[in-house]
Amino acid sequence: MQVQAKSQPLEQYKMYIDGQWVESASGDHFESDNPFTGQPWALIPKGGKDDVDRAVQAAHRAFVSGDWPKLTASQRGALLRKLGDLLTTHAKHLAEIEVRDNGKLIAEMSAQLNYVPQWYYYYGGLADKIESSVIPIDKPDNFNYTRYEPLGVVGAIVPWNSPLLLTAWKLAPALAAGNTVVLKPSEYTSASLLEFMRVFEQAGFPPGVVNVVTGFGPDAGAPLVEHPLVAKIAFTGSEKTGRMIYETAARGLKRVGLELGGKSPNIVFDDADMDNAVKGAISGIFAATGQTCIAGSRLLVQDNIHDEFVDKLVVFAKTATMGDPMSLDTQVGPVTNKPQYRKVLDYIDIAKGEGVQTRLGGAKAERPECGDGWFVEPTVFTGVSNAMRIAQEEVFGPVLSVIPFTDEDEAVAIANDVIYGLAAGVWTQNIRRAITMADRLQAGTVWVNTYRAVSYMSPFGGYKRSGLGRENGQDMIKDYMQVKSVWISTATEVPNPFVMR
Ligand code: ADP
Repeated sequence: MQVQAKSQPLEQYKMYIDGQWVESASGDHFESDNPFTGQPWALIPKGGKDDVDRAVQAAHRAFVSGDWPKLTASQRGALLRKLGDLLTTHAKHLAEIEVRDNGKLIAEMSAQLNYVPQWYYYYGGLADKIESSVIPIDKPDNFNYTRYEPLGVVGAIVPWNSPLLLTAWKLAPALAAGNTVVLKPSEYTSASLLEFMRVFEQAGFPPGVVNVVTGFGPDAGAPLVEHPLVAKIAFTGSEKTGRMIYETAARGLKRVGLELGGKSPNIVFDDADMDNAVKGAISGIFAATGQTCIAGSRLLVQDNIHDEFVDKLVVFAKTATMGDPMSLDTQVGPVTNKPQYRKVLDYIDIAKGEGVQTRLGGAKAERPECGDGWFVEPTVFTGVSNAMRIAQEEVFGPVLSVIPFTDEDEAVAIANDVIYGLAAGVWTQNIRRAITMADRLQAGTVWVNTYRAVSYMSPFGGYKRSGLGRENGQDMIKDYMQVKSVWISTATEVPNPFVMR
């Protein structure tokens, strides 16, 4: 990262290990940039293997000794709910840090940070409702019951696109289940998680229950996956890194939860409410500057409405205001980091090379209100075939590929013809069509006449190469637990072991 002339001193952060704010073992730092200015604004400790070991050892100690394992599930739940309350109080500050570090819009972040506490309330409430069974066992003179127990130390690795939300998805159920956690944020957006820990430490969790190691993926993420005392890795990020993590975790026979990429189809039928579908297509791709795994980056439009629909879409997309993400008037913000900015522009070139038509954008944004930030014009390509790279590969930016189809069968065939299966949207007013499309689409989430809705209550995750396991909802807390079967003999006499019955 290039060091530029700085008008203000950089904010210097520390990591959080065993209830203490600490420097990395090496004492090194790296800069975190503000995507709106393209300038560094913070210094983050550059953690490595030694720091990961220190954090995992602290988490392991907290799991086996001290106050945490003595707490009842109800007491753990109360701590989580207290954390939720504290986050509500600090939501504005956390939202502003995320905007500065990540470039997300203040309007989106304020809403998101006001919603994040719900994960801590929900899983806090669930903590003491995980009931085990007494099995009506087939062996006479035996009493058999189950116990759900935590796994141990969970390593949670989060990406840069929604750091605090995606942390909550992992941290809340992991803690509710009684685990301890080592968090590794993305090297591009570590600050908000460190600010979150300032709030977290007021909630009263024992030291070592949650630790944060900052640093780069190979230096700080990989040793966390490899560490023998880590029982599970909960990861959100790219398919490439997810595969590496899966391979490494397999060697240690660790559990994994992987939430990876997507190339989600957003499908508009000719019987859809056109204005609503236009809004759904726009929010599907331009919200969060297209930097979401659920982005509806392939817009499938029935051929008899294709031209009219694209015209409406382009007219609407042109109204998007760009600029300072801290302004409530801004509707499309910058790309979060420079490599990603280059990647998005590269994909625009790739698409043009593949022969698509550029209906909107198709270049970096040169608007005065965008300054030196990493902005890309909202882009709409038509004439895309599903075999093209622009239709198959995740761009993770404000780039929409429009693909025509003739009927339901063809829509399903195109929609499912990608390696991913994270989400899909369907726009229709025909109830039979809505239900059969939802059945036939290979995706972990299907939205009908809406797009991007997620909740702490409803399972989220991928089909195919979009991931393994689910986040959110009641069932998934058991992904952070293991079940034990306990046998107690009620016989008065142990039978002779040499006499088989
Ligand atoms: P992106 O391309 O969106 O940055 P990544 O999958 O590379 O996505 O990053 C998501 C998270 O995974 C980040 O916290 C990153 O530091 C971490 N990471 C990257 N490489 C590795 C690795 N080899 N092992 C563990 N974590 C990694």
